[in-house]
Amino acid sequence: MSVRPYRQITRRHSRQIFVGSVPVGGDAPISVQTMTNSLTTDVAATVAQIKRAEAAGVDIVRVSCPDEESTAALADIIRQVSVPVVADIHFHYRRAIEAAEAGAACLRINPGNIGSAERVREVVKAAKDHGCSMRIGVNAGSLEKHLLEKYGEPCPEAMVESALEHARILEDNDFRQFKISVKASDVFLAVAAYQGLAEACDYPLHLGITEAGGLIGGTVKSAIGLGNLLWAGIGDTIRVSLSAAPEEEVKVGYDILKSLGLRVRGVNIVSCPSCARQGFDVVKTVEILEQRLAHITAPVTLSIIGCVVNGPGEARETQIGLTGGGNDSHMVYVGGAPDHKVDTLAMIDHIVGLVEAKARELEGRD
Ligand code: SF4
Repeated sequence: MSVRPYRQITRRHSRQIFVGSVPVGGDAPISVQTMTNSLTTDVAATVAQIKRAEAAGVDIVRVSCPDEESTAALADIIRQVSVPVVADIHFHYRRAIEAAEAGAACLRINPGNIGSAERVREVVKAAKDHGCSMRIGVNAGSLEKHLLEKYGEPCPEAMVESALEHARILEDNDFRQFKISVKASDVFLAVAAYQGLAEACDYPLHLGITEAGGLIGGTVKSAIGLGNLLWAGIGDTIRVSLSAAPEEEVKVGYDILKSLGLRVRGVNIVSCPSCARQGFDVVKTVEILEQRLAHITAPVTLSIIGCVVNGPGEARETQIGLTGGGNDSHMVYVGGAPDHKVDTLAMIDHIVGLVEAKARELEGRD
């Protein structure tokens, strides 16, 4: 039992699969994914996007393969990046086989949409031969006709049934290296579908609120939907879908996991909204610090608080703290205790230096 049981999340027991070298499910850390939105045939642009996502800490990247030219470009892309690449395939079984041959770590494909049983067998064989896992991706917007007729509209039960039908096809082919998603743009529908699926099987679940929206609206929607599920212990890998750059999706994904204490990466800044009591410009300072500390991967906690109303209390809970004071003299806290003072002009460089030193210490580089 944790000393703070109110913070404890008990994860659903799922079986573990691998997406390349990244374990998904079981006791593996919840991985963060994104998807490129460049033309896959534009290898340079796609590699550049993946590298920006890698710098933001992404674990797995998905790349769309709508045609043969794209699967041809895939091998080139995979050679130039470090993270495992998932090939996003719709319908066409040949693209799936080509993607497996090109080195994709995972195929996002719904076996029920491939066509004949023979084609499914060929895709499964290619996946087995090349060490590919798969993701079954059910989407409320593209449910099978027979399920829409049965249920009348996209509903959680229809989505779970669709997922299990696809899963059965792979099981019948003796293939169990797959994870499942049941995405919807409606938060209620997505959450209920994932809850139902979590009960119905032990496959690892890939969480996402699809077509969530722009950076702010989509972040809020994803945080509510994914946050709700993760808090309940459901979810093994996540993708935040935003109409924004892939690296933004990665940052939001980590922030959701960080908020729930499920994964820590980089600096966790606790800061106040600021008000007339602030001893320095909190908003601007935090904005600059976020940029200057973006390269830190070690889990450092930092509080940036405008005045003594909340500064000492927050500093007690963080490794490094800054609290605004009068007369251009601000208190720096180290390890929760007041340590020394700094003025406004020097404070940003000073805090960056302290955080970098703390990160080195945590990584054992000191
Ligand atoms: S900590 Fe101080 S500056 Fe920040 S919002 Fe509260 S009262 Fe205002």
